[in-house]
Amino acid sequence: MNRPTIRALAMAVGLTLLISVAVAIPVFESTGARLALMLAAWSALAILLAYLFVPSFDWPGRQLSRVPGDRAVALTIDDGPNAETTPAILDALRAARVKATFFLVGAGVVRNPDLARRIVDEGHAIGNHTMRHRLLPFRTAQQLTGEIDDCQYALSMLRGRVRWFRPPNGFKPIGLHRILARRGLTLVGWQGAIRDTDGPCAREIVDRALALAAEGRILLLHDNPSCRGQTAIALPAIIDGYRSRGYRFVFLDGKVSDYGGR
Ligand SMILES: [Zn+2]
Repeated sequence: MNRPTIRALAMAVGLTLLISVAVAIPVFESTGARLALMLAAWSALAILLAYLFVPSFDWPGRQLSRVPGDRAVALTIDDGPNAETTPAILDALRAARVKATFFLVGAGVVRNPDLARRIVDEGHAIGNHTMRHRLLPFRTAQQLTGEIDDCQYALSMLRGRVRWFRPPNGFKPIGLHRILARRGLTLVGWQGAIRDTDGPCAREIVDRALALAAEGRILLLHDNPSCRGQTAIALPAIIDGYRSRGYRFVFLDGKVSDYGGR
């Protein structure tokens, strides 16, 4: 099976071990050369692992890591639509008059078409969060494009052109940027960890979200049942907290998405 990320990872691990063994049974005379070789091999492996599994790690300019605009912040909500949790999130956003960007899972859109339609009708932006929310580095090349294209198709029923993409857990497989570029999709990151899916109480979610306050911030929250409904309860205080600190909410392209506040 053609799993490009697994293949690259296996090659990198194999090469690193091979070099380590060659250095250990001194194939090379110079201690300096042996150390440099060892360091280079382990650094390359560390960079590959960071690229694959650390969401914020990427080459500069290849992923959207902050939103443009004076005192701008963006709210992104991942994993919906979900019949249990999305309605309360939408109610909270509507009451606060703020629009967010929802990274939707294609299978959820198919299961909850009315809820997906409500997200779009209430003026929120949407992005592609794959068809089944599988971890992409472990998929074959065909499964990888299928996950992205099937979700894109499901979203096309809601809105003509979707331009944002976020991989499940932020894990990037080898070849992702090429696939996204061909489809006109931009990879969207986030900064800081609110980790509302760990099940903290609403107060804790508010504290974590406000601790991240900074210009250009892309905040990541979830309409996932593992948040136990606490994210929707936390949203009004998060929005008020940002507004009172002088921030305004924007979409990922920098257009204002905040219709309330002062
Ligand atoms: Zn997700």
